[in-house]
This record gives sequence, structure tokens and C-alpha cells, in this order.
Amino acid sequence: MAMALTSLMVVFLAMPALAPAVHLASKSGDGASADSQVENPATSGANPSLTVIDGRIGRQPIYNVLVGCGIAPAEVLSLTQSFKGIFDFRKARPKDEYQICLTSQKKLKKLTYKTSPTNQYVAVKTDSGVFHTYRRKISPEKQTVARTFTIDSSLYQAVTGQGENGSLVAAFGDIFSWDIDFYLYPRKGDIIRILFEKYTLNGKFIKYGKIIAAQYIGRSKKFSAFYFNDGRQAGYYDENGRPLRKMFLRVPVKFGMRTSSFSTRRYHPISKKYKRHTGIDYGAAHGTPIFATANGTVEFAGRRGGYGKLVIIRHPNGYRTYYGHCSRLLVKKGSYVKQGQTIARVGRTGQATGPHVHYEIRINGKPVNPNNIKPAKGAPLPSDLRTRFENLVQTRLLTMGDYLYSDL
Ligand SMILES: [Zn+2]
Repeated sequence: MAMALTSLMVVFLAMPALAPAVHLASKSGDGASADSQVENPATSGANPSLTVIDGRIGRQPIYNVLVGCGIAPAEVLSLTQSFKGIFDFRKARPKDEYQICLTSQKKLKKLTYKTSPTNQYVAVKTDSGVFHTYRRKISPEKQTVARTFTIDSSLYQAVTGQGENGSLVAAFGDIFSWDIDFYLYPRKGDIIRILFEKYTLNGKFIKYGKIIAAQYIGRSKKFSAFYFNDGRQAGYYDENGRPLRKMFLRVPVKFGMRTSSFSTRRYHPISKKYKRHTGIDYGAAHGTPIFATANGTVEFAGRRGGYGKLVIIRHPNGYRTYYGHCSRLLVKKGSYVKQGQTIARVGRTGQATGPHVHYEIRINGKPVNPNNIKPAKGAPLPSDLRTRFENLVQTRLLTMGDYLYSDL
């Protein structure tokens, strides 16, 4: 064992920041017991004691790591060859983790290579001396979680400050994007409830699943969303069974700041004149994606005067939307775009003092205040689905309520 430790020291010294954990394990205590059915017990039985080395790959090639552990170069070569068509080590990333199991004779018994907590590659030495190599997908555990958040400074802060990830905020924002202008609406003290699916592995966060239900409780108004599958398609409905999805999204950029509103008279800092501001400006970092607020056909994509690089989309019923001052245009005249599709990137072309998108809605050529657009909600769920939907709403509200009280 003394020799094994000496060469392991080399590994320690070579990557001090990524110090691998080394421990001795008997066959039964092997951390790799989860897939022991793939291993040949006869081989393991011949080597009752294995050395287990855990580490992070860092910037080294796997070859150096293995040779550094004292494994013969020929053995390492036959191991890496066994990965052919299964995993290409040229795609290794510094945060990838490995676990090496060595016999007391410094022979490689098993290598587990983890590219993510749910994705691993395993190579096991068989009786015949060749490596059996395969990919192993690990299913994370799914939980349904209900949480309540109170806004202090921002929606984002309220959720992430309680240990949830920013992607939950984004998913929540998407659900209510037809109803709430999150740049304007949220106030200190507003309450958010979310019933959502969360995937974890050994207690570690992996990803979110669906948001099953959500509420935004503002000072004067409450917005609710319930995920419901009507048998043909799934979507979010309010408590009265009306779909939340509407013709226009409230804003054309995520995580921007409203810098100028629709007004009939405004001093323009570049032309130094008072003039109508026929849209709303949203300041955002240069390059931020701008998305179409509704389905439609691109009528114009190019430069136009003070608008700079501009996209105009034609929608049904005489509606048009304008997106100005873009840095890059990602659509062409005549192409059909879907609601939420990225059409351009934020810039400061044309008359603009800083990077922002000038967003405008026109009805039959006449600019209207986007905030005054109240497109009709879609048709409510048909009566034969109502009972099922109402039961679902009751259950969801109870679940969110129960958790709300246990939180307090
Ligand atoms: Zn503007």
C-alpha cells in the first residue's frame, strides 16, 4: 500500500486545487455498489480490497490522471479505447468528476466518469481482461413543492433569496407575461405562491419541472394560474377556466428596465425637440434578445431613420408591432414568427442615447399605448371539462394554502 500512497501523492501535488479524495474500501463498502450487478463478483472476490480515488478532471487529460495513479500506460490505452463511440474524452470539461477503483496490484478495476450528476460513464474490467464500458443515466428524484415568497426589493430577489434558482423566477414570469408587466407592477409586500416540481439527486438541486399552479397576490389584484391538460393540449388557465395566453405579451425583452413610457409630449435628448413618444422604451444590455410579442409575419427588417435597425411585424386584425434601435436583426421580411421567438438583439442604432428597444404597437397604422391594449382572453374551458377543472383548482389552492400555513 505504501507505493500506492506515494503515487497518489503525485496526484495531490499535480492538482492541489482539485485534491482528490482517497479512501480504502472493501468490496461491500465500495461507493460504486449501485451498479454492482454489472460487475463480475468473481473478479471482485479475488481482490477483497480496492483503492478508491475520487477527483475532478480539471485541465488534465484523463490519461495523465490514470497514469499518475500508477496504472500502466497500455492499460490506460485499452481503457480509453473502450470508450470509443460512448464518450469522447476530448469533450471533457474541467468540472467533470471521476472515480477510480484500483486493485492492490495497481490494476484498474473500474472507472466512473461523471459529466453531470445524472450522466455517468462506467468502465468495468471483466474476467476476460477487457473493459465493459457503458453510459449510465441516473434519474433524479421528483418532488412537488409549494412555496410562498414575499417581495421586498424585487421578484427575483424574493425567490432567489429563499434558496430557489433564478430559472424558477423566469418560468413564473412567463406564465403571467400576458397579464403582468413585471417591470412596473411588483411592489414591496406583494406575495407569490408557486406549486412546482423540483428534481434533486442526493439532496442536490438538479432542475425544475413544471409549475403546477401559481399566484401573484398584489395589493389590489390577485392573478392565478393553474396548469391543466384538456386532453388535447396543456396550458395555464385562471381560476375561471380561461386561458392565460393572449394575443400580446406585455414586454418584448426579459430582465430589462422601462426607461421611457408612451406619451404625447416628450423632450428628445438627441433632436432637442419636444415630440410624441409613440411607444415604450425598455433599456437592456447590448445584445439582449428581443422577442416577438405576438405571432405574425415580418413586414420590415432593416434600417429606417431614427428607429435605426427596425423590425415590424404584422398581426391579425390590423395590428403591427415595432422593435427599434436593434443591434442585430435575426429575421427577414416575409418570415412568419411565433410569439416569444427572438427576432433581434438590443442595440442603440438610430436616435438612441443608450442600448434599449423602442417598442410600439399600431392599430391600422395609428400608434396606441401598449399598456392600454386589453386583448380579449381566449374562450373558457368547455362545460364538460369544468367539473374536473374546478376540482383541480380546489386541490391546488388547498395544497398551496397548507404549505403557506406551515411556512409561517
Ligand atoms: Zn422610444
